[in-house]
Amino acid sequence: MRIVSGMRPTGKLHLGHYLGVLKNWIELQKEHECYFFVADWHALSTSYEEKLNLKKLSRELIKDWLAAGVDPKKSILFIQSHIKEHAELYVLLNMITPLGWLERNPTYKDQLSQMKHKDIHTAGFLTYPVLQAADIILYDAEAVPIGEDQRPHLEITREIVRRFHHLFSCELFKEPKELLSPTPKLLGLDGRKMSKSYGNAIFLSDSSEEVWQKLRGAKTDPQRVRKSDPGNPEVCLIYDYHKAFSDEETIQKVVEGCTSASIGCVECKKWCMASIEKVLEPMRERRAAIDDEAVEEIIASGERKAKEAASKKMNQVNKAVFEISCEVE
Ligand code: SF4
Repeated sequence: MRIVSGMRPTGKLHLGHYLGVLKNWIELQKEHECYFFVADWHALSTSYEEKLNLKKLSRELIKDWLAAGVDPKKSILFIQSHIKEHAELYVLLNMITPLGWLERNPTYKDQLSQMKHKDIHTAGFLTYPVLQAADIILYDAEAVPIGEDQRPHLEITREIVRRFHHLFSCELFKEPKELLSPTPKLLGLDGRKMSKSYGNAIFLSDSSEEVWQKLRGAKTDPQRVRKSDPGNPEVCLIYDYHKAFSDEETIQKVVEGCTSASIGCVECKKWCMASIEKVLEPMRERRAAIDDEAVEEIIASGERKAKEAASKKMNQVNKAVFEISCEVE
């Protein structure tokens, strides 16, 4: 299958991103033709006031992907705003997308109420599902890996495809299906959502020392005051991290040791650290081997391939819209 997925360049990636997105991408690239893009135009839809250096952030994001194991020999990596066909198709799709579809989008309403600290009453934010539709159908994606909350967006994409086909009597696009990934939510080390702005995240680029300092200060079962108090792993964040990163044997040892008070929290955190390091250490090695020049070459090569597919599709789209001529291969 051909798969398209993007990520916004808003800063360093953390373990939550790894578990929720990158781990899945790394699996998908083994079997499918994957287009992974830096969604820099999407970043502007909510962060247009923040003066982000999107050029720099986009490169850093790609470095994080490469360090995590996304393989440019298997996947096509590119930056959205470098392929102008995304914007061209977005304009055309905006012409045919009823406003009601966008205003009724439950994610739109949710985000308006959640992001009260930002002014996102903009055309760009309302219409970002249209840009997403363009990102996906431009490459004839057959499937898109999404979380449950993005289902309404993908439905809007499919509705736009059907509307285009009906209006221009030309079946140019594929209707993408969803690849629902069970994304385990990893909370930050203070129990809130893991986020750079809360200062509670373990970043993929953290050193061993930084990881340990963060784990050492993390909250555990509040009832377990002394080592001799039996604990309850189910209410402990460190146990969540064990479930995400440790093997079955270690998880079992944690449950037994914690509930019988035969291990202390420092020991338990050391085991947790060892499991996380099994993921982060290879990332550090890969990161050390990537220089800026290599990143630029990877972007240039990905863009050549993305551009070729996108411009071919836009030729067909423009024929359908401006010449009422349907040329489908
Ligand atoms: S022993 Fe481990 S699971 Fe139990 S409270 Fe301490 S850190 Fe949490």
